[in-house]
Amino acid sequence: MTSFIALRKVTKRYKLGGTMIEVLYEEDLTIEQGEFVALMGPSGSGKTTLLNIIGGLDTVERGSVSVAGGELHTFSNRQLSQWRARHVGLVFQFYHLLQVMSVERNVMLPLLLTGMPSAQCRKRVRDVLEVLGMADYLHRRPEELSGGQQQRIAIARALVTDPALIVCDEPTGDLDRENADMVLGLLAWLNREQGKTIVMATHDPEAAQHTTRVIPVGKARTREASGNHRSAA
Ligand code: ADP
Ligand code: MG
Repeated sequence: MTSFIALRKVTKRYKLGGTMIEVLYEEDLTIEQGEFVALMGPSGSGKTTLLNIIGGLDTVERGSVSVAGGELHTFSNRQLSQWRARHVGLVFQFYHLLQVMSVERNVMLPLLLTGMPSAQCRKRVRDVLEVLGMADYLHRRPEELSGGQQQRIAIARALVTDPALIVCDEPTGDLDRENADMVLGLLAWLNREQGKTIVMATHDPEAAQHTTRVIPVGKARTREASGNHRSAA
């Protein structure tokens, strides 16, 4: 039985100026469906890199990445974005909401990629915002809302396609304690009551209380790699 998420012998390569930086993960990572996992470790330890790999935002140069039944290391970019649209919701530290659009449009964006008819899209958006207690803000713009409210809107956007997996990168990093606790509580509720598998990178010392497991991420082993790599072009 394979795990919901399984990363084996993964190496990610970044091009930095004229050199290559390789981030090597020496520990394999497995996460089961229904877990709410916090990846914790110092800055530069490779948490964001890991999340981007798990969420299909980025590809690896070596190793295998199995997530929600997809063998991501074998996918083309097009297959990866199709897989992502169906299986993952993404939440970021700075919300990544489009300030010129209404809350409704922001939350609807991922649905537009699915071809859902627009009346159905509007209903789905309203339902999700209602579940998150944000239905009154449908026609507001994100810039009129507090940070905590904006993160709730971003979580609504992550949920709107009903993905099995939610990936969050420092979701409380820009919030005060009260709003951070609200967001952590909301994620824990989504995990418990809606069965979402959640993988979150965080520095927040309170996070462990809300999650089902903490995975420490040690200082990533990085090395400079030079020349003759297939991604070097
Ligand atoms: P964390 O999220 O834990 O702070 P990251 O995944 O952002 O860690 O970074 C892991 C390592 O990869 C660091 O050594 C970082 O410098 C390097 N790295 C991350 N992104 C890039 C990039 N776009 N270009 C070059 N190096 C990068
Ligand atoms: Mg990071």
